[in-house]
Amino acid sequence: MLAVLGLAFGLAGVAQTPVAHKTENVIVVMLDGLRWQEVFHGADADLVSKPGPEALGNPKERAASAEKLYLRSTQEERRQALMPFLWSVVGTQGQIFGNRDLGSDAHVTNGLNFSYPGYNETLTGFADPRIHSNDNVPNPNVTVFEWLNAKPAFTGKVAAFGAWDAFNGIFNRERCGFSVNAGYDPLTTIPATPELKLLNDLKAETVRIWPDEPFDPLPFHTAIEYVKAKKPRLLFIGLGETDDWAHAGSYPEYLNAAHLGDSYLRQLWELVQSMPEYRGRTTLIVLPDHGRGVGALWTSHGEKIAESKQTWMAFLGPDTAALGERKAADPVTESQIAATLALLLGEDYHQSVPKSGASIEDVLGK
Ligand SMILES: [Zn+2]
Repeated sequence: MLAVLGLAFGLAGVAQTPVAHKTENVIVVMLDGLRWQEVFHGADADLVSKPGPEALGNPKERAASAEKLYLRSTQEERRQALMPFLWSVVGTQGQIFGNRDLGSDAHVTNGLNFSYPGYNETLTGFADPRIHSNDNVPNPNVTVFEWLNAKPAFTGKVAAFGAWDAFNGIFNRERCGFSVNAGYDPLTTIPATPELKLLNDLKAETVRIWPDEPFDPLPFHTAIEYVKAKKPRLLFIGLGETDDWAHAGSYPEYLNAAHLGDSYLRQLWELVQSMPEYRGRTTLIVLPDHGRGVGALWTSHGEKIAESKQTWMAFLGPDTAALGERKAADPVTESQIAATLALLLGEDYHQSVPKSGASIEDVLGK
């Protein structure tokens, strides 16, 4: 009925052209609060010299290390040094939106520019005014992950891993029907391998800087163990250190977290391309949940920091034309991700949930 009304009045929610898709699996990786500025420009020379709290070690040494690792003479060299997989592989074989210098805008539509509203928007396809805090509460909305898991072709083939314990709420672990593993919780739903046992031990024993999330290697490698064991068709991995170190004012650690996240994209991509279930039929989507401020406000984000609505997004897979870094492109929003990933899998989420953003045509096959 809604689709009929949509057609009649020209509203959002009209059926979208089915895609002759090659994609059978989708992996979404979100890097919390990683700015488009670092993604497209690389390390900021002015910020490297402000390494933040001394508790992390000698500030001068940490700044010198970050300069050596990430500062280069040109913008292209700097971003390549920071995120070599993103630029050498996704930038040549996929598409990357969000470089405002080149007329490509990506943003959140929720108006709040912080995490839970950003994840809700991305995973459900719409901003919801009821989602106005980062409290770890059950999401009243159904994510596209839960929507797909309800379809027989995907039931039991959906999984989400996150550093932040609030992913339990965002995906509504109690209701959603698929595996959600977040925060310091051990993963106990698959047979324990020596690797998984070690990861679960490290989650319990490693120093806890943040009460609501461990360091990124723990959820990432836990997700890898799950992929090897269960081969999910739809996988989410949420990493958090980029945001945590930025809030701490530690630019070198923020850069290191972005660089590590990039190396994880490579590990994940190389792993799935080595597995017959995934090779040549998997699309990778990478994005943050919000941006950050500029200048001295780089550490922060939120409703009062206008620039922190600005994001970026990257797509790599068999259906996405190799247009590389997008220039003079139509604006894209985080609310379009849910419909896009569903349509890549041959399912029309936007028609079913008309208030969701329409899919991004440019990344779908024709
Ligand atoms: Zn965030």
